Amino acid sequence: MEENCIFCKIARGEIPSATLYEDEEFRVILDLGPASKGHALVIPKIHAANLFELPDETAAKALVIAKKVATQLKEGLQADGLNVVQNNGAAAGQTVDHFHIHLIPRYENDTVNVKWVPGTLGEADKEDILKLFR
Ligand code: AMP
Ligand code: ZN
Repeated sequence: MEENCIFCKIARGEIPSATLYEDEEFRVILDLGPASKGHALVIPKIHAANLFELPDETAAKALVIAKKVATQLKEGLQADGLNVVQNNGAAAGQTVDHFHIHLIPRYENDTVNVKWVPGTLGEADKEDILKLFR
């Protein structure tokens, strides 16, 4: 538990939240600033600032819970699709430094914006990146 971390307090129930799911290790809540109806956050009870700090075992369980709640949201709200979004670092749009997964139900013709402008994979970039994994 990190002092002054709002998601540590929410995950452990010290601050009330609209909870959709809870077990020993996770809490899933409704986002207070939803992008769409049903926007929820999967939050581990242990503090990890981001994906890079998250223990493997917690990372694995997080996706199973995300799948379970996403399924209930999509069916229950009759959504047409659903985005799973996870931001790491301010440059990537992270505003709360406690790992969380966004579940964002999508509806035909909604105005949610999780798009980017596609670029072109250049040869130099491709080589630079492939070199990192050789
Ligand atoms: P991110 O930008 O990925 O760090 O996402 C943080 C998310 O947490 C945003 O979508 C906020 O609307 C949401 N949020 C911040 N504080 C609270 C809170 N107290 N309860 C519920 N959601 C929150
Ligand atoms: Zn925390």
